[in-house]
Amino acid sequence: MNLTDAILPYSGPQSSNYYNQFFHPNICHVCKQKIHGRNLIRCECFLISYCSEDHRILHLPQHRDLCKAVKEFLKQEPEQLTRRYTMNEWVKTRSAFSLSVQLAISRSFEEYETQMFLYARSCLICHQQVALYTCEICFSAECCIEHTQEFDQKHDPVCDSLILWLNLELSNVEFGGTMPLFLKFVRFPDENRPFGNMVTFVTQYIQDEMYEWYALDYIYTDYVSGPLTVYYGMEEANLLHYLKGEPTYVIHVICADTLDRNSLRAWEILLHLLPDIKVLIIVMIGSKLNYEHGTFEICSRCKTNKKKIIYECCQMLYHEYVPIAIYSQPKIIVGFQALLTSGTAWPKSVKAIRSQDCPLLLTTDKLITVEKEVNEIQKALHINVEPVLRDENKFRSLRPRRNIDNTVSYYNSYVIIYETLNILNKSTDSSNNNKQLYSYLAKMSCK
Ligand SMILES: [Zn+2]
Ligand SMILES: [Zn+2]
Ligand SMILES: [Zn+2]
Ligand SMILES: [Zn+2]
Ligand SMILES: [Zn+2]
Repeated sequence: MNLTDAILPYSGPQSSNYYNQFFHPNICHVCKQKIHGRNLIRCECFLISYCSEDHRILHLPQHRDLCKAVKEFLKQEPEQLTRRYTMNEWVKTRSAFSLSVQLAISRSFEEYETQMFLYARSCLICHQQVALYTCEICFSAECCIEHTQEFDQKHDPVCDSLILWLNLELSNVEFGGTMPLFLKFVRFPDENRPFGNMVTFVTQYIQDEMYEWYALDYIYTDYVSGPLTVYYGMEEANLLHYLKGEPTYVIHVICADTLDRNSLRAWEILLHLLPDIKVLIIVMIGSKLNYEHGTFEICSRCKTNKKKIIYECCQMLYHEYVPIAIYSQPKIIVGFQALLTSGTAWPKSVKAIRSQDCPLLLTTDKLITVEKEVNEIQKALHINVEPVLRDENKFRSLRPRRNIDNTVSYYNSYVIIYETLNILNKSTDSSNNNKQLYSYLAKMSCK
């Protein structure tokens, strides 16, 4: 089974809690079959497609209000479909359009409904939405008749990744979006099975047959990327001593989302990598979480060593959480793809992070966001605080995510680590250090 050669057929259940997990404009929304050109039935809203009348009617109860509102908008603005846009204009108009439809139907969208607006069929080059050809290989990119040459140049390099992306989305729907996260690595780490990045980690510890890549192997990397990034990122930043020496260890995961929540079990990796830890407490803080608190089953080796993982999920922002925290201060704060630029409450949360005076680890999926995050922190604190590490992450996820510009990116691609944001005391130390260093160098050069 090669996941980058062709789109594989979907064989999972056809009930709404499955098919509504994900949207794609060129396959039937209900049975997820790819239907070539004319045989695909496009809904009157132009946003969603079906293989048959039966499947359109099956989805109609969940789609009716949105469909009606979109049709109203198109009636008032029929030229919207033929208009051409630059990439920036396209992103802006799609977000604005999606917002006005949400207002019109007085409810917020499901994730797949947001995707209907962002990933609407449009020419990759000019974004017009009529008279389009679809890439017959990946099924995930379109172009108009005028732009076939530019399309090939821009699309060819990512076509394979988009095939992999769609195959993994379909598998993920098939598994109901819940990964069977039982630990495959009771014997981890094992000095006979060395690894230095996510690919070698998967081949050594996850794959049933070495080098034989299945959909679940890729999806698995989404979940283990977090804890592996924390351990190996801190090692690379020479800050591993912060993770050692104490039996109880608290980690705060800020801006946590569903993926972070579903990765909780993977944190057992840290119990294996850090033998000193007896009790690991993971606190996830994020506005979209549900409140939860508990512990879960760990491997027999950890149980024999009387280890334990406790977790808590809090539906709030970080600065709201800090004053009411029930566990002791965190040893590290992490934010996986925490978009610091979004939301006006962010400066308050940065100050709350500073008050904890501990290492902060952030990740991003794009290089351009790395500098943005560093700038946002400086802006919020009005000081020139610099990370000790900003680099590509060897333990990023291997599962591609589709971007709005039809390229792909990977979860946790870049890592940023601060020793602390509380540099006021430390900066006097370091300037003293610098003075000593400079006078030392000056003396040496006189000799
Ligand atoms: Zn169908
Ligand atoms: Zn419709
Ligand atoms: Zn075009
Ligand atoms: Zn393609
Ligand atoms: Zn264990």
